[in-house]
Amino acid sequence: MSTAERRGLLIILSSPSGAGKSTLAKRLMAWDETLTFSVSATTRRPRAGETDGKDYFFVTEEAFRKSVADGEMLEHAHVFGNFYGSPKPPVETAINAGRDVLFDIDWQGAQQIRNSALGPYTLSIFILPPSIPELHRRLVSRGQDDAETIAKRMQKSWDEISHWDGYDYVLINDDLDTTEAKLKTIIAAERLKFAQQPRLSDHVRSLQTEFEELP
Ligand code: ADP
Ligand code: 5GP
Repeated sequence: MSTAERRGLLIILSSPSGAGKSTLAKRLMAWDETLTFSVSATTRRPRAGETDGKDYFFVTEEAFRKSVADGEMLEHAHVFGNFYGSPKPPVETAINAGRDVLFDIDWQGAQQIRNSALGPYTLSIFILPPSIPELHRRLVSRGQDDAETIAKRMQKSWDEISHWDGYDYVLINDDLDTTEAKLKTIIAAERLKFAQQPRLSDHVRSLQTEFEELP
């Protein structure tokens, strides 16, 4: 049982590749140091500049399959020919301590978490690009994938976008600062929801006692 003031939220960001969710996730992490980023495990190779244990846990397919079989993944999916999954223990530790966890995962992972026992504690946000040519421009400007990989990601983008309406919030990431501000507003409001504040009942009970003691 948690002793925290409130239970942490599972905040899920999804989008087609290149729409900007990693950039936005980094900005949110810089904004609120109490947020915990869920570092996924993946069988894909590291990109230039990515650090093992920080961006991803880069694992072999054998190790990945064993983690899934041992029930250590909160969710997992096959994306662009590689396996990705969210390790369960760090998420449970964080939310039981009242810390929110940020996920950068695809629609399959979002759906699995929503349908799990943690579903009621989930806040899911889908990020749309302003246009398809702009999505392509961003994938190219990121400069981290070769032409073949970019073509594969573009082909798959509709698959991801087609799940947009299963999310709690949907934002068009046109101007980065504006989208960041909207995300912060959403998170701040979700944290104030009644269900997120179990101690409110105690407060109302003490108000009732004070009320009954009125002369
Ligand atoms: P994703 O994580 O969704 O695959 P990234 O966060 O890596 O996408 O963003 C892809 C590229 O687009 C990066 O080069 C990033 O700097 C850029 N980008 C992200 N959001 C915007 C935006 N609103 N306007 C212009 N460029 C953006
Ligand atoms: P990338 O290879 O660009 O880092 O990620 C490719 C896609 O996999 C992105 O849509 C990203 O959100 C998704 N992804 C990353 N980690 C996970 C994870 O743990 N689970 C799921 N389901 N998707 C993930």
